[in-house]
Amino acid sequence: MDTRSKVLFEEAKRHIPGGVNSPVRAFGSVGRTPRFIASAKGSRITDVDGNEMIDYVCSWGAGILGHAHPRVIKVVQQACENGLTYGAPTEKEVILAELIAELVPSMEVSRLVSSGTEAVMSAIRTARGYTGRDKIVKFKGCYHGHSDGLLVKAGSAALTTSVPDSAGVPEDYTKHTLVALYNDRESVEKLFQANPKEIAAVIVEPVAANMGVVLPEAGFLEFLREITKQYGALLIFDEVITGFRLALGGAQEYYGIVPDLTTLGKIVGGGMPIGAYGGKREIMQMVSPVGSVYQAGTLSGNPIATTAGIETLQILKEDKTIYKRLEKKTEILATAVREAAKKSIIVNQVGSLMSVFFTEQPVRDYESAVSSNTKCYTEYFGYLLEHGIYTAPSQFEAMFISDAHTQEDIDKTCEVIKAYFMHI
Ligand SMILES: *Cc1c(COP(=O)(O)O)cnc(C)c1O
Repeated sequence: MDTRSKVLFEEAKRHIPGGVNSPVRAFGSVGRTPRFIASAKGSRITDVDGNEMIDYVCSWGAGILGHAHPRVIKVVQQACENGLTYGAPTEKEVILAELIAELVPSMEVSRLVSSGTEAVMSAIRTARGYTGRDKIVKFKGCYHGHSDGLLVKAGSAALTTSVPDSAGVPEDYTKHTLVALYNDRESVEKLFQANPKEIAAVIVEPVAANMGVVLPEAGFLEFLREITKQYGALLIFDEVITGFRLALGGAQEYYGIVPDLTTLGKIVGGGMPIGAYGGKREIMQMVSPVGSVYQAGTLSGNPIATTAGIETLQILKEDKTIYKRLEKKTEILATAVREAAKKSIIVNQVGSLMSVFFTEQPVRDYESAVSSNTKCYTEYFGYLLEHGIYTAPSQFEAMFISDAHTQEDIDKTCEVIKAYFMHI
């Protein structure tokens, strides 16, 4: 039953482009009407028709504790009493910056912004300011928000020329964005050899999670650390998804690599709009008002958002076994899918991130990710949705497991997945 969602979607389309405020929400790639959500609690999300579903989108990973965690809600309610925004510094910003530096030691100095997009855009500006170079290297299939210069994945034939993915982005804006292939060292080496003194930074999702989940192969991140050092470029880890998800210290702790700059989003706001970028003091000194790299924000460091972020990070920090529990639950799910499907399927999983690809070849880069049969994914997604399991409405988004998912939730999900593969 999605009667009310259908009505709302039609109304929404009259005044909102495609009826949504972020494209993937429109369920376009799975050809369905999006569920309009009324409320959420713990592992469950309830739509306007009263369907309660086990949620594996978790607001695209922000909800690592599940929805409406009582401690987070309580402090947010209290904070609201003191006013919503001042446009002046607060103690909460100091606390959050200290907490970030403690949990992610490479982020000695950080600046708060209001989204992951802003964090990445600003980190790149800082890297360019610091190095005095213009070019950046990104990887095909990695997503870094929607700022002009990063909306490039380029065709495989275009490793050195960069064509924007979006209308409205002048080619002049993306000409400094070079595209390499994930897990392919040679593609990175070639770009450095061709531009030895022009590359300001290499930006990477240390675990790629926006082409489905794709793990870095052994040595790949180490290689990026080495080659950037060798050529005097910075290494930027976009940890908007992996930050506080793979480990308290993010992917950099999980894999033991220290980047020069890091970007955060999603979990760091505890469900409110926050992004952050930071790194070594020497680099971050470039940012205004200390340095000459301009970056600002009316609502940056917002008192309600920082309150939600601090409480979320505190809960994660106090709980010494949370990452083990998250990983275990996710492994159970991954194993269940692999066993149920038997063949023609690849399940990539690390920590509490996973993806099911309908392909037979190992998924290690963009090309192998897009070899997945999206028609199969659409059927799988639809069956799960109709049986109370809410997963990402796109093959190329991750499945997120939260601390609120109970054993019962996982068991039920495994049963539905088994039933699906039996039925096809
Ligand atoms: C979500 C995401 C972003 C963009 O964050 P927004 O808050 O949506 O602007 C950037 N990088 C990565 C890796 C992301 O997953």
